[in-house]
Amino acid sequence: MSVAFISHPACRLHQMGAGHPEQPARVSAIADQLHGRGLFDFLVHHDAPRATVEQLARVHPREHIEQVSQKSPEEGLAYLDPDTAMCPDTLEAALRAAGANVLAVDLVLSGGSVRRAFCNVRPPGHHAERDRAMGFCFFNNVAVGAAHALEAHGLERVAILDFDVHLGNGTEDIFRHDERVLLCSSYQYPLYPDMNPPSVPGRIINCPLPAGSGGGVFRAAITEHWLPALEAFRPQLVFISAGFDAHAADPLADLRLSGTDYGWITEQACQVANRHAHGRIVSTLEGGYDLPALATSAATHIDKLLHA
Ligand SMILES: [Zn+2]
Repeated sequence: MSVAFISHPACRLHQMGAGHPEQPARVSAIADQLHGRGLFDFLVHHDAPRATVEQLARVHPREHIEQVSQKSPEEGLAYLDPDTAMCPDTLEAALRAAGANVLAVDLVLSGGSVRRAFCNVRPPGHHAERDRAMGFCFFNNVAVGAAHALEAHGLERVAILDFDVHLGNGTEDIFRHDERVLLCSSYQYPLYPDMNPPSVPGRIINCPLPAGSGGGVFRAAITEHWLPALEAFRPQLVFISAGFDAHAADPLADLRLSGTDYGWITEQACQVANRHAHGRIVSTLEGGYDLPALATSAATHIDKLLHA
């Protein structure tokens, strides 16, 4: 099973000020960990292209795309919300992060040896709604990839699995009424973005978890709610919004997952993909703010993508 690893130097240039948890070192820490485990050279490396306006416009109104472009500062920081700022390099990074997903979809659907991809990109995307940048996110990277699979490749059913500790409100905003998409989410609630929308049977599977929940509660929720829905839906391609901020060491939240739990959930995703989607998975970095926990969890996730 070949796995693509898609990134871009611009993802290390986007920064939102000293001390901001969504920092450039996140993507470097993951790459360093892959080197340390001897996994880096087993991946098929690609530089992310820029997403085009047409690709972004499948999920964002053109006014939103133009607004983000116009906010791009020539120096200093321009704030789109209190947590979400653009520096002069942010627009380039955001276009590459979304474009990584487009390339990942093209690679895994090309019929070649690459069946899976990990997009080691930032800014993240899952809080970006159709017409609103928020929560460190500008464009919804995974949604851009899913829309590309549906519109450019003609797939009829894709699943998005989001195990970031925060609800992916943006992805839900974009796909809530699209019957071609099954969206499965687990998240701490209450927590940012302070939304807990109802599940829609067969389409939107939301698993809010109380603060303090550990791997046992997480695995039980996935087993009870996600897996039957995925079996019934039979996705042709599985996307993962891979946030690692539900780890016990993460400073932004209070769930208690371990690296082993990230290995387990990745195995579950691989089994679904192997049964229904020719093994095809496109996974994309979302959150994860404790650098050692992020690096080891993401490396475990990628190890499973290679071998499960
Ligand atoms: Zn998060």
